[in-house]
Amino acid sequence: MGNPIVIVGSGIVGLYTGFVLAQQDRAKDITFVAEFMPGDQSHMYTSPWYGGNFSIVSGDSDAELEYDRVSFLNLKKIHDQFGPEAGIAMLPSIEYYECDIPSPKKITSLQSYIPDFKILEKKDLIENAIYGIKFTTFNFYCPKFIAFLKQYLTARGATFIRRRLNNIDEAFEFGNKSGVTPIVFNCTGIGAYNLGGVADKNVYPTRGQVVVIRAPHIRENRGLVSPHFETYVIPRPHSTGGHVVLGGYMQSGNWDGTATYGSETASILERTRRLYPEIDDYGRKPIEIVREAAGLRPSRTGGTRIEREDLGQGRVIIHNYGAGGTGYQSGYGMAVKAISLMEQNKPKL
Ligand SMILES: Cc1cc2nc3c(=O)[nH]c(=O)nc-3n(C[C@H](O)[C@H](O)[C@H](O)COP(=O)(O)OP(=O)(O)OC[C@H]3O[C@@H](n4cnc5c(N)ncnc54)[C@H](O)[C@@H]3O)c2cc1C
Repeated sequence: MGNPIVIVGSGIVGLYTGFVLAQQDRAKDITFVAEFMPGDQSHMYTSPWYGGNFSIVSGDSDAELEYDRVSFLNLKKIHDQFGPEAGIAMLPSIEYYECDIPSPKKITSLQSYIPDFKILEKKDLIENAIYGIKFTTFNFYCPKFIAFLKQYLTARGATFIRRRLNNIDEAFEFGNKSGVTPIVFNCTGIGAYNLGGVADKNVYPTRGQVVVIRAPHIRENRGLVSPHFETYVIPRPHSTGGHVVLGGYMQSGNWDGTATYGSETASILERTRRLYPEIDDYGRKPIEIVREAAGLRPSRTGGTRIEREDLGQGRVIIHNYGAGGTGYQSGYGMAVKAISLMEQNKPKL
């Protein structure tokens, strides 16, 4: 028998970690311990709030390219098997750039696995854009996707316990029914900033505000990277009411996750109307706002932390956090890497 496993956190990163373990038939070994779970809403719980999609915004280090690639290929399997039930769909996407165009290394990697990938010709660019890409990608109805993963894991024997931990030491008390010290995955997102025993002050929030509208006729993603803003239109697949997420903001170091601002909503509506005039039928129909929301991306100086820490006395933590703005699109690959660390130097019992 292997070690029991405790996953602290049930955001998308913890749930992907559980899902990959379940593919190895280890769901029964897992106890999730989390303050917030699918179905909850809190500014300290990033995963339920957004569009979201797989876009080109992620970094271009070898590790980041690999997390994206592994995630994309495995998301295809989840999509093909579960599609609507999981709240995932594949939709067309166009991204325009006024600056910060993706590196050739990144483009080469993406071209090798993303379907319908095409660099736009100059004549097909919008005003002020210097570069553009078209491709087919994954869209997530995020609250539905994480609820699906929780239900999938529960059905296969995983346990979910609601608890706020003050110190990582407390995690070792769970999953210990057989007297075996569990391996602990730290998937606490923004919570990693002050989790006792392993608090990581390199973690910081990147605040975003979004506007969710009802626009069932919008079936395509559109994004624009410009010097001061990232602007995007992301349909939420399989949402009742045809919801579309409009954004956004990237406010580094801003912990204000509870308030939304009218001025930011106005800016988002103005920018997304310009980018995708069909959202309000070229100004002919009033936009129907469903909600405005703010959230904190769990960013980290030095990037994502996927690292094994041996604490002595057979106690092992595997850190897996700091997904920033790409937890849905790169989290599966992060989970595969984190789990590969589990098998190294198994603790002596
Ligand atoms: C506006 C916005 C738009 C985004 N768009 C996209 C997108 O299009 N595509 C994409 O891939 N990503 C997107 N993201 C990023 C994505 O949402 C995050 O990367 C992801 O949700 C992070 O997941 P996580 O599991 O690391 O953290 P979380 O979802 O925050 O989960 C953390 C978990 O740890 C638990 N926890 C923390 N501390 C403790 C503790 N002390 N004790 C017990 N439990 C604890 C929490 O309760 C929770 O269960 C967006 C984010 C924002 C804000």
